[in-house]
Amino acid sequence: MNYDPNNIFARILRSELPCIKVSETAHTLAFMDVMPQSDGHVLVIPREAASTIHDVSDAALAECMREVKRVAAAVRDALQPDGMLIAQFNGEAAGQTVPHIHFHIIPRWHDAPLKQHARVRADDATLEAQAERIRGALGH
Ligand code: 5GP
Repeated sequence: MNYDPNNIFARILRSELPCIKVSETAHTLAFMDVMPQSDGHVLVIPREAASTIHDVSDAALAECMREVKRVAAAVRDALQPDGMLIAQFNGEAAGQTVPHIHFHIIPRWHDAPLKQHARVRADDATLEAQAERIRGALGH
């Protein structure tokens, strides 16, 4: 897939658009999903310009997965969910809406149904409070 350098996540990576950051490394960025499917919904992206899993380099994917595991553990420690959904969509037909590869970390609770995908904007104060707890669990 041709990479669109002006997609939302590319612009967040260039700091042209804001995000509520959870962590960053030389190769990855983790930030709160603004239309979360549950409390504590975090996105992890590689800095590499790649649309889908079919485009990303093995090295960037490995770095990204390492960060997904690390951030998921911090979300678990911070929010104590009953389970953890980790998802990644490739192409519009699969539900991908932003064409820069990303991993969803979605904590799940038995009594909280999954909210609809990318529908309702959460307020920044709530997202920031959750991010603060996750950053705390990461030791930031
Ligand atoms: P996809 O459908 O491509 O797998 O997921 C894209 C995700 O990005 C959705 O969950 C959506 O809520 C989230 N999203 C869309 N626009 C923005 C934005 O501007 N900032 C942040 N932080 N998340 C976004």
